[in-house]
Amino acid sequence: MSELDLILIGPPGAGKGTQAANLVEDFGLPYIATGDILRAAVKDGTELGKKAKGYMDAGDLVPDDVIVGVVAERLEDDDTRDGFVLDGFPRTIPQAEALDRSLDEMGRRLTAVLCIDVPDDVLVKRISGRRICPDGHVYHVDFHPPKREDVCDTDGKPLEQRPDDAPDKVKRRLEVYHEQTAPLVDFYDDRGLLHRFDGTRSKDEVRDHIRATLSTLRLEETA
Ligand code: AMP
Repeated sequence: MSELDLILIGPPGAGKGTQAANLVEDFGLPYIATGDILRAAVKDGTELGKKAKGYMDAGDLVPDDVIVGVVAERLEDDDTRDGFVLDGFPRTIPQAEALDRSLDEMGRRLTAVLCIDVPDDVLVKRISGRRICPDGHVYHVDFHPPKREDVCDTDGKPLEQRPDDAPDKVKRRLEVYHEQTAPLVDFYDDRGLLHRFDGTRSKDEVRDHIRATLSTLRLEETA
């Protein structure tokens, strides 16, 4: 059976991270989230982090040439042999074209693009209540509160709001999504790769829907 090379797209707060974690668990694939890679680079003060920080703090995208090489290199690691789950990349048409070229060079092609749709008003509510611990555990003040306010249940560390989850930054990130990333929906639809999911449904329903879609794809592949 060929690899499962998957992309998750959708606006910030659509639940891509949650569904990616399910895919990792269900299929044992490596999770490649460019937002996580960039946040780690900022924290470590690397060259990449220095280039990215200003854009990220403003809720803007980092330039394509900053991120494209990072992903191309990551995809060459051994653990992507059976596939990968890309979250947060591509975010623009030039990034999507660069990804096609990288995969082409590796003799691979995307299996599916999973697009999670959620209306903006729901997203604003979800993102502005999001809290994270330094180790990445994610909570929500209303929908998934920690047992003790502002403290991580898992490791007892204080919870914080991501700087770009502040309300004015969220508005900017949604604008950027609609302007620069939403065109990818048509881009992948034209290539017959797009599968849409209703991200206002429960996490489990979205998970089941994604599983069913991928099972159908695999059945088609072996037919
Ligand atoms: P995320 O965690 O995916 O919401 O990403 C957080 C921030 O990292 C974004 O608002 C961008 O500033 C930056 N970023 C992440 N992925 C990309 C990408 N593929 N292209 C450009 N900027 C990105």
